[in-house]
Amino acid sequence: MAQQAQFDLVIIGSGPGGYVAALRAAQLGLKCAVVEKSARLGGVCLNVGCIPSKALLDASEYFHLAKEHLADYGVKTGKVSLDLSVMMARKDQVVAELTENVRKLLDGNNIEIIHAAASLTEPGVVQVETEKKKKTTLAAKNILLATGSEPVAVKGLEFDGDRIVSSTEALAFDSVPRHLGIVGGGYIGLELGSVWNRLGSKVTVVEMLPKIAGSLDGQVGRTLDRILKRQGLEFRLNTKVAQATVAGKKVTLRLESGAGSEEMRVDRLLVSVGRRPLTRNLGIERLGIETDPHSGQIRVDETYRTSVDGIYAIGDLVPGPMLAHKASAEGIAAVECMVGRAGEVNYDTIPSIIYTWPEVASVGLTEEQVRARQIPYCVGSFPFSGAGRARCMGETDGFVKLIAHGKTDRILGVHIIGPRAADMIAECVLALEFGASSEDIARTIHGHPTFAEALQEAAMNVRQCSIYAS
Ligand SMILES: Cc1cc2nc3c(=O)[nH]c(=O)nc-3n(C[C@H](O)[C@H](O)[C@H](O)COP(=O)(O)OP(=O)(O)OC[C@H]3O[C@@H](n4cnc5c(N)ncnc54)[C@H](O)[C@@H]3O)c2cc1C
Repeated sequence: MAQQAQFDLVIIGSGPGGYVAALRAAQLGLKCAVVEKSARLGGVCLNVGCIPSKALLDASEYFHLAKEHLADYGVKTGKVSLDLSVMMARKDQVVAELTENVRKLLDGNNIEIIHAAASLTEPGVVQVETEKKKKTTLAAKNILLATGSEPVAVKGLEFDGDRIVSSTEALAFDSVPRHLGIVGGGYIGLELGSVWNRLGSKVTVVEMLPKIAGSLDGQVGRTLDRILKRQGLEFRLNTKVAQATVAGKKVTLRLESGAGSEEMRVDRLLVSVGRRPLTRNLGIERLGIETDPHSGQIRVDETYRTSVDGIYAIGDLVPGPMLAHKASAEGIAAVECMVGRAGEVNYDTIPSIIYTWPEVASVGLTEEQVRARQIPYCVGSFPFSGAGRARCMGETDGFVKLIAHGKTDRILGVHIIGPRAADMIAECVLALEFGASSEDIARTIHGHPTFAEALQEAAMNVRQCSIYAS
C-alpha cells in the first residue's frame, strides 16, 4: 500500500460542509484534498436534497399555476398536461450543472479530488479505497469529517427502494403515484408531499405528533396546516404507521391511533422521519472518537475538534439543525480555527425554511419559547393581504410575525409564512446578528411595492404604529 502525498488537510465528504471547507482552506493557503465516495461531488444537498427538491418544487408549482390559476390572470394556455420525464430530466440537468460547478471550483483552487471511500486507521492517516478496491493512504496534518447523514429506517417500514422509499427515490418517481402515503410531517415530507400533490397524487401525511412541522411557531404552524389542507394534503395526526406490507404495486399500512387500529392502502410510501449521522465504516470507533450514544452525532468542541487531536467534524455529523447552510458555516469556521483564526458560528441566528407554497421561514425564538423562558415580549404582525405587491401577484396567504423584547425592543424572533418568505428571512437574520430592535426595522425604508414591506409593517405594529394595518 503506497503512502501518497502529505496534505495539510484531508476532508472526507464533499457536501456543502466539506467542499466549502476545502475552498476556505485553499484561500488560507492549506494544501488540501477532498475524498468523496460517490461519483458526483456536492453531497446530499446537491444530489438528493436541497437542489433536486427545489427544482421539483418550482417545476410542480409552475404546472399547478398553469393548470389552475393562470386563467385568472388572463393567460390562456389551452389544455395543460404533465410530461414527468421532461420535468425529471430538467431537475437532473440542474443537479449535473451544480455538481460540475463544485468540481470546477475545487479544481480551480488546486484542491485534490479523490473519488474513494475513506476511513480512519490512526491519527494523521486517512485510508482510501477506490471502487476498484485499490487501497492507498493519505498523510494529513488535520482531518475534517464531513460525511453527512442518511435517512432513518423504521422497523416494520423497511425501505425497498421501490414501494417503500426514502426522499432519494421520492425525488425520482417515474410516474405520479395515485395515492402517496408519507410517514412524518417534517419539512421533507411536506415539501415532497406538495410536489406530488401538485402533480396529481392524493397525499396522506401520517404524523405521530399532534401537529405537523412541530418546531414552528404555533400560530405559523396552524396556518401552514390550514393552507396545505386547502391545497388537498390530508393529515392524520396523533397516528403511527406500525406496519407496511407490499403486495404487488400496493402498500398496505396499519395505522394506530387513540381510536384504535385501521388499514390504509397506498401506491407508494415515503418514510421521512428524520436523518442520522453517517459514520458507518468510517473507523471512528477504532480511534476512540466520542459520539452521543442516542443520536450517533460526533461530539466536538467550539472549534469543531473531536475528542481526538487533529480530527475535526462538521455538518450533519455534529449537533445542531441538519441544514446545508449550517454545514457550510461550520466548514468555514472549522478551517479558520485550525489555522488559529477566530472561526465561529452563531447558532441563535440560523434560519430555517420550508419550501412549501407559501414558503415558511423563521429565525430566532418562537412565541412559545419566549413565553417558556418568561421573557417579557411584544408581538407585531402583518398579513400579506395588506401588501400591495402580494395583491398584484395574487399571493395574499400568510403573514409576518415579529417578536421583540418587551423592555429593550431587541428582536427575539421573526416568523414568516407567505410568498418569498425564504428570501425575506435574510434581512431578519441580519437584524438578529446586529442585535437590532423592532424600531430599527420599522424605520428602515423598504422599497415599494415589495413583500418586504410586510416585515416593516409587522415591525411598526410591535408599537401599534403600522400604517396599513386595518
Ligand atoms: C430531500 C432533502 C431536502 C433538503 N433540503 C434542504 C434545504 O432546502 N435546505 C437545507 O439547508 N438543507 C436541506 N437538506 C439537508 C441538507 O441536504 C444537509 O443538511 C446537508 O447536505 C449536510 O451537508 P454535509 O456536508 O454535512 O453532508 P452531505 O451533504 O450529506 O455530504 C456528505 C458526503 O460525504 C460522502 N461520504 C460519506 N461517507 C464517506 C466516506 N466514508 N468516504 C468518502 N465520502 C463519504 C457522501 O457520499 C456525501 O457526498 C435537505 C435534505 C434532504 C434529504
